[in-house]
Amino acid sequence: MGRERLNDITMRIFSTGWSEDVDGPGRRWVVYLKGCNFRCRWCANPEGIDPAPEMLFYPARSGYADTACPHGAVKDNALDRARCAACPDRPCVGVAKDPAFELAGRELGVDELVARALAARPLLRQGGVTFAGGEPTLQADEVLAAAAALRDRQIHTAIETNAGTPGFARFPGQVDLIIADVKCVSPDRHREFTGADNSLVADNLAAAAARQRDLLVRVTLVTPFNDAPAELARLAGLLGRLRKQRDRLRAQVLRQHHLGGPKYAALGIEYPMKDAPCPPPSRARELEGLLAEAGLDVEPPWSAKT
Ligand code: SF4
Repeated sequence: MGRERLNDITMRIFSTGWSEDVDGPGRRWVVYLKGCNFRCRWCANPEGIDPAPEMLFYPARSGYADTACPHGAVKDNALDRARCAACPDRPCVGVAKDPAFELAGRELGVDELVARALAARPLLRQGGVTFAGGEPTLQADEVLAAAAALRDRQIHTAIETNAGTPGFARFPGQVDLIIADVKCVSPDRHREFTGADNSLVADNLAAAAARQRDLLVRVTLVTPFNDAPAELARLAGLLGRLRKQRDRLRAQVLRQHHLGGPKYAALGIEYPMKDAPCPPPSRARELEGLLAEAGLDVEPPWSAKT
């Protein structure tokens, strides 16, 4: 794809940042795509779910939040979200730059993305660019165009995906690494805790197993969603069958955390799992053992490697 064409392509993002742990090997520049087809109740990036821009409001960060909004949307340290959503110019962010306000949601041109990645190349240290979210495969045209341009320039690319969209099938072979988050096998349970059907996931994973050279499946254990012994066995069964389709299959097991909790309050929404206990490390070891028995190459997150 020519450079002129890249000028015309923009993606919806809610943030960019740096990572050296769960987003791929080496030092990564992570582009967080806005919009997701799942509604996971433990989501650590709730501002990535809705495709539309949203304001995160942290009144404790500033003594001047009321005056930073000239449109009267802030009174007594509370944000009138209906008025804020209709804001014509968002001067709280663009002019006042008041720390109480964080706008999640903007367009990023693929041309700009590639230029920023090239400028950052000296910082990438055996890393690359990761497309996370949100769900990056919902913006398949845009992400694939960016990934192709980056690979042309010898920059390593990865996506982190729920593997549950029709667009996923376009990615195997088109990025250097696919990190597929597998939530749970039981359809009812999946629907209850993510608000979405998982019927596409198994087929998508099978397609990736056949066509993607570097594939890593990842399970984040969440209590009481997917950490019961029966569910661990089902996960190991699904991933073990996938392993038989290829020479090797990498796997990581993570545990739920509550680091995203303050964002729910900042968005003015309830955090559905705020009181849920995090699974103990022993539960993660248990699943790792089952996956190793099923023939997968179980590895720690990149930050934990020596
Ligand atoms: S986005 Fe507009 S309406 Fe909302 S707080 Fe900022 S200035 Fe006020």
